[in-house]
Amino acid sequence: MRHIRAIGFDLFNTLIFSEGGGLDEAVRRLVSSLESNGFSLDHDTFKQAYHKAAIHFIEQTRKDWRETHNRYWISAALKTLGYEVPPEDPGIARAVESYFSAFLDYCHLIPGTIEMLSTVRGDYRLGLLSNFTDAPAALRLIDHLGISHFFDVVLISGELGYRKPHPLVFRRLIEELRVEKDRLIFIGDDLESDIRGAQEAGLIPVWMTYVHHKNIPFASGEPEEQFKGLAESVSKISTWPDLISLLDNHRASAETSIP
Ligand SMILES: [Mg+2]
Repeated sequence: MRHIRAIGFDLFNTLIFSEGGGLDEAVRRLVSSLESNGFSLDHDTFKQAYHKAAIHFIEQTRKDWRETHNRYWISAALKTLGYEVPPEDPGIARAVESYFSAFLDYCHLIPGTIEMLSTVRGDYRLGLLSNFTDAPAALRLIDHLGISHFFDVVLISGELGYRKPHPLVFRRLIEELRVEKDRLIFIGDDLESDIRGAQEAGLIPVWMTYVHHKNIPFASGEPEEQFKGLAESVSKISTWPDLISLLDNHRASAETSIP
């Protein structure tokens, strides 16, 4: 067993969570922004069209893990309502910004996150690797929550062009943290994107189950059948003190193992 040199973190449902109503409020702000740009929209009709478009584009990403962006979903939703607006339209950019502004008001840190990051940052290089379609919004959010300065590396799928579990994004994390992959722990809540992705890329996956134990909205429930074996085989933590214990145990094992 080798010493751990770096820790990578997922963002949503690992370091932060959204309180209930966050996505509804985001869509409400999105619709208001479009209305102020001259579109006449029925809120519920637009919301349905937007959700349908979002599901379609997100399903597309599963083919090759290329990242999508909300501007395509908005443009597609408007098209079904009779408006031809290209995804690059400045009105759509403003609507996207309004949508993500709700995240600043509804997202919170998981308890103990600042204390945990303060504890580990002296001993490990720290990276953030998030599946987030809009990189500027992701950066604003982590700034707002007061955690951006803890990370040596921040990688957002919206900027990379690919999402976890694509191996390319984990390779970027390894390269930018400048560590060997078997000395890099990756912590996340999603068994497919974070845990299987990290394992296949040669990192050490750690499954963060905090949100699974609380009634957090949008958290996935019990592992799907195809991920049950994986869920049982990897290290699990449900609080940040669990992570500190895991790192202490790992350090003790690495020190006693024969080189
Ligand atoms: Mg997550």
